[in-house]
Amino acid sequence: MLIGVLSLQGDYRAHRRSFGEIGVSTCEVKKPRDLDNLDGLVIPGGESTTLIKLMESSGLWSAVSDFAARGGALFGTCAGMILLADQVYNPPQRSLRLINIAVERNGYGRQIDSAETYGSFPQSRDNPELEMVFIRAPRIVSIGDEVETLATCNGDVVLGRQNNVLVASFHPELTSDYRVHSYFIEMAS
Ligand code: GLN
Repeated sequence: MLIGVLSLQGDYRAHRRSFGEIGVSTCEVKKPRDLDNLDGLVIPGGESTTLIKLMESSGLWSAVSDFAARGGALFGTCAGMILLADQVYNPPQRSLRLINIAVERNGYGRQIDSAETYGSFPQSRDNPELEMVFIRAPRIVSIGDEVETLATCNGDVVLGRQNNVLVASFHPELTSDYRVHSYFIEMAS
């Protein structure tokens, strides 16, 4: 099992640390060739407009689409979720359109630029409560039938999956609870 973490910008180091804690090997992805032999790819939080530019100039924009088409597992957190969404608002911008959700950038307003709270992760029967860190987070404003809701917070879907694509509007890599990373490893296996 080898998971790549897109390492162009953003909090990719925290994802590598989380996978390390659960004994999963990771590598940095900076160019299309780095996608060879990966079971899964994480697109981390950061600044989505910057990530788009860097992915385009490195050739990774189309290479990530090809990776998904080959059945590779993808996990986008925060800005990563924005890149994977079907539609992006506030303002509109291009996206990879790999999961049928529409998202609004910075959708929780200026008052909650950043928040630590608890949401519900029913996937985990023993302890459905999950700590969630939101940082200038995108909000999922509509969701297609083919998308499975995996976690909610204050009535919003905050973790969703469509086939080989997983997205979170929060940052599971910034807590010491590794259940979402473990879930992704099961997806990628
Ligand atoms: N607000 C950022 C964006 O729109 C995302 C923030 C994050 O990834 N923490 O790109």
